[in-house]
Amino acid sequence: MRAYRFALDPTPRQVRDLERHAGAARFAYNWALATVKANLSQRAAEATYDIAADELTPALMWNLPALRRAWNQAKDEVAPWWTECSKEAFNTGLDGVARALRNFRDSRAGKRAGRTVGFPRFKSRRRTTPSVRFTTGAIRVEGDRTHVTLPRLGRIKTHESTRKLARRIEQGSARILTATVRREAGRWFCSFTCEVQRTERARTRPEVVVGVDLGITHLAVLSSAIPGVSDADGFVPNPRHLGRAQRALARVSRRVSRRVGPDRRTGQRPSKRWEKANRQRNRVHHRVADLRRDGLHKLTTGLATTIGTVVVEDLNVAGMLKNRKLARHLCDPSFGEIRRQLRYKMCWSGGRLVVADRWFPSSKTCSACGAVKPKLSLSTRVFRCEHCGLVIDRDLNAAINLQRQVAQSGWETINGRGADQKTKPGLAGGCEASTPHRLAGQDGDRSPVTASCDEWRLTHAHSQRIGGRH
Ligand SMILES: [Zn+2]
Repeated sequence: MRAYRFALDPTPRQVRDLERHAGAARFAYNWALATVKANLSQRAAEATYDIAADELTPALMWNLPALRRAWNQAKDEVAPWWTECSKEAFNTGLDGVARALRNFRDSRAGKRAGRTVGFPRFKSRRRTTPSVRFTTGAIRVEGDRTHVTLPRLGRIKTHESTRKLARRIEQGSARILTATVRREAGRWFCSFTCEVQRTERARTRPEVVVGVDLGITHLAVLSSAIPGVSDADGFVPNPRHLGRAQRALARVSRRVSRRVGPDRRTGQRPSKRWEKANRQRNRVHHRVADLRRDGLHKLTTGLATTIGTVVVEDLNVAGMLKNRKLARHLCDPSFGEIRRQLRYKMCWSGGRLVVADRWFPSSKTCSACGAVKPKLSLSTRVFRCEHCGLVIDRDLNAAINLQRQVAQSGWETINGRGADQKTKPGLAGGCEASTPHRLAGQDGDRSPVTASCDEWRLTHAHSQRIGGRH
């Protein structure tokens, strides 16, 4: 499954059509949620009058077919304008409610990882991202590669060429399943979810192992330099897009704060001037986000297409974000996103990603003699070894240590004993508790071939054993 996303260039009339469809989706969502709530409270009220359980108002099932049946019965009355929109628009909203209710129920039952999910809430017209998903009907990428066709909306021009997807469809190696249109930063986008046949590529340079230390001073430090990705010493600079945009952001934020904005307590509606200023502020934020995404993709693609094995650290980002002074700088290079991209891109290129244990002392270990320092403050940027006198950049030292862990143990070793090992209870207590969903690659009885797509973890016990050899 792969998504292809294109910016659209709709005519004013098409914009109105898109907005109408997104509005219809929101309307159906709110209607379905209200119906579910009314059904619940009706049954609860009846139960207080001692009505037998089988004589209560029948429960409305929390699934899409049931909601769709209820909608089709009610639509003539609640939305006599329904013929103006594709049925897919209403389906988007009903599906949203069904999913939200399922997530709520699974979360209550403890069947869902992650944060607890509350009961769904109504969608506001002002705050909701307009979006609608088409699953059936005429969904096409046109042969001229500058238009897409969607049900009821017709041909819409795209900003960029749809070449990459169109070529695959012509070859027969991709099939469009759904198309979702949504407005982001004042621009409409269409993303196609496709089923793609991908030819398994051979690993580019399977013998090369590179340790990657993600940092703040530099976006990443590689244990050995890779032309086109890092500079000659292995450093990938951190562009600090947000930091650079701070001044522009401060200026537009000041403008926003001086105009009459919305106030929930007094019910004050924002003025037109505030809305205009707010759009300017959003544009700065979106530009930062675009620049950041571009830089990250270039880094991860560069790594994934040249190297066989990438070793990264398992950073406790959620914990580090609690440090408010660090939070903004940490969010800027988005560590979690780098790892997510590396995971699937390494898989595409046939390489593998190894995640070192959170407690592996990559920064505190000397990369020359293996001596481990008891303490190393975050502000110390240069690593100085008391044993062998090595003086090296802190992050480069960490990257070399990461690389060495895997290079010395070898691939078979990791698979044979590292991958299925549980971290020692005494050491890992906090780690296990703070990472509720462990990632793939934990079960050990896989061959190296099938495992190449997974993310592997060096456990602490394993790294200790290797460390002892120094
Ligand atoms: Zn040393």
